[in-house]
Amino acid sequence: MSRPRPRAILFDLDDTILEYDGSAARVWRLVVAEFTGSLAGLDVERFMAALNEYREWYWGDPERHRRGRLDLPLARREVVRGTFDLLGVAAPAMADEIADAYSVQRELVVRPFPGAIETLTYVRAQGIRMALVTNGTSAMQRGKIERFGLESCFDYILIEEEFGVGKPDERVYLHAIEQLDTSPSEAWIVGDNLEWEVATPQRLGIFSIWIDGAGAGLPKTANVQPDRIIPRLSALKDFLR
Ligand SMILES: [Mg+2]
Repeated sequence: MSRPRPRAILFDLDDTILEYDGSAARVWRLVVAEFTGSLAGLDVERFMAALNEYREWYWGDPERHRRGRLDLPLARREVVRGTFDLLGVAAPAMADEIADAYSVQRELVVRPFPGAIETLTYVRAQGIRMALVTNGTSAMQRGKIERFGLESCFDYILIEEEFGVGKPDERVYLHAIEQLDTSPSEAWIVGDNLEWEVATPQRLGIFSIWIDGAGAGLPKTANVQPDRIIPRLSALKDFLR
């Protein structure tokens, strides 16, 4: 499975370079705790249990996921309203308030993983061409790219909303690779999503490195085998020495 050094690497953004999902539960708890006093029957633990159940259902459908990530503030309102339904709480205005407060707080706590930016700089110094390939809206993704000074790390940046389609549409990977003036067999991809950064790119002949941030290994239900598994982006350097 070993390969020569790549000519190009495609990088995912959220939960690969930036810690994003990892902060979700913590932020939900903080936000909901602010509201528990003003609504009888609203309890943080009960809310979290119902929220997790509803989120799993909501984000588990690929088409709902696509619509949701292209309008996260609306998706979060739908998620909190659905959670309230599960709890038997009829307070749609408060559901929206909680969702909107979460949307604000969530973006504030986004951070690069330790060593992530240094790793990008290291890869760039090796003369490897680099693309950032990220799903989501232009405003949200560009906002994070600018905030953390990521633009100068990459030769090309592809954002789902700007390009018109997102991962796992094959055109996304092929276009990015073409922009880097290389071919799938000379390219690697790094990311945390087994469909977006492993299954589809592998079908195209791209060498895939999966980030197992939770350290839990491949899920039993996974029907893919990444070419490499690393615990965090900074471990990528070990393959490029
Ligand atoms: Mg990701």
